[in-house]
Amino acid sequence: MRNTVEKTKGQEIRDYMEKVLDLIEKPEVTAEEAKWITNETVNSFKEYVNPGFLEYRKTVTLDTQFAAVEWSDEGACFKDVNGNQYIDCLGGFGIYNVGHRHPKVVKAVEHQLQRQALHSQDLLDPLRAMLAKILAEITPGDLKYSFFTNSGTESVEAALKLAKMHSNRTTFIAATRAFHGKSLGSLSGTAKGMFRKPFLPLVPGFRHVPFGDIDMMRKTFEICALVGEDVAAVLLEPIQGEGGIILPPEGYLQEVRVLCDEYDALLILDEVQTGMGRTGKMFAAELYGVVPDILCLAKAFGGGIMPAGAVVAKEKVFKNFFDNPFMHTTTFGGNPLACAAAIATISVLLEEDLPARAAEVGDYFLARLKEAVKGHEDKVLEIRGKGLMIGIEFQNDAIGYNFAKGMFDEGVLVAGTLVNSKTIRIEPPLTIAVEEVNQVVATVEKVLSKLKA
Ligand SMILES: *Cc1c(COP(=O)(O)O)cnc(C)c1O
Repeated sequence: MRNTVEKTKGQEIRDYMEKVLDLIEKPEVTAEEAKWITNETVNSFKEYVNPGFLEYRKTVTLDTQFAAVEWSDEGACFKDVNGNQYIDCLGGFGIYNVGHRHPKVVKAVEHQLQRQALHSQDLLDPLRAMLAKILAEITPGDLKYSFFTNSGTESVEAALKLAKMHSNRTTFIAATRAFHGKSLGSLSGTAKGMFRKPFLPLVPGFRHVPFGDIDMMRKTFEICALVGEDVAAVLLEPIQGEGGIILPPEGYLQEVRVLCDEYDALLILDEVQTGMGRTGKMFAAELYGVVPDILCLAKAFGGGIMPAGAVVAKEKVFKNFFDNPFMHTTTFGGNPLACAAAIATISVLLEEDLPARAAEVGDYFLARLKEAVKGHEDKVLEIRGKGLMIGIEFQNDAIGYNFAKGMFDEGVLVAGTLVNSKTIRIEPPLTIAVEEVNQVVATVEKVLSKLKA
């Protein structure tokens, strides 16, 4: 009896898998299939993923739109399973710098997939070597050696370990409102109490100072030296992303660099979000003429096709991993598919001059948005940004949420920032057409005019 029940159950889930695999194969789905997909997705989120995510979607959408299920993407847009198109101004939190499914990135990954997807882990894998050489060439100053990861948080973890090995010190200075990821090491650098509190104590030795306050930074260095807790490294985002698109004050990063040198500490720049052309330069460090000792990359690094990240370091820092290259490892980091995607992504960024495009379109977008919010000072506090990393700060959270709902209803995806929900981010693909920017600005005007303060 027990056996038959198990068999029937086994058969059901096998049929289910066949159905899902058939759907994956289809370029288009019928209205009936779309309905089935939506029901299955909503129910399984509720029963097997996390019902809290459905509740979250309800707070950022009108009526039944929380159940919008994404299905395909291209250019600066994605479509839901019912065929509704949205201009993507969230950009997957900044992963779609070269656009959705850029043909050159897709081609590189497809070709690599036909030959070899993952590496043996023991022989020499060519693309990892070639990508590392390319990175040494395009990153600022004498950044040279690369370790590859699968995500931003992993890049930060690797950076922290590099800094510890290099210095034999355990103190790190990070900034308030910082976001560096959510694994235990990177979370130690992340600033939001709500994300940290349940997991305390985290990695010991982290101190947070207000972002942009050079005096506090200097005092903290002084105090750490006085009490014998010398600083291993300062960990900063050049422009804070999840903290609400916060630009550093004039001269801040340069002065931090000087302090690090004075105290023989390393400077780690977390460019997981600002890197790969987002802010108008290939790396935001170039905006401020600062060369970090360690640079963290991820998000857009895999071209919005593959999960991929990297940590690039100066030789004096990285050489501590020479004696034992297994000191820090990851099975999937730097796999052939990810490297193919990253190489094609960098090629597209350079070929299409996308960092310069981000600067130009970003200036235009920012100016148009500033015009659009005139007369809405009761709702909008400030608009700021650099390149295509733009934040709209509202007077309070509720206005921000209602704004996001209105935008989604009109076919534009925007979202709050993780640390600061009052600020809505605009981080479209760097390939976004000017007509699409105009359409977003018109939508902002329309939504704001309907919103109550
Ligand atoms: C998103 C982000 C991370 C974390 O990246 P994951 O891939 O989500 O782990 C780290 N640092 C910054 C600046 C980020 O924006």
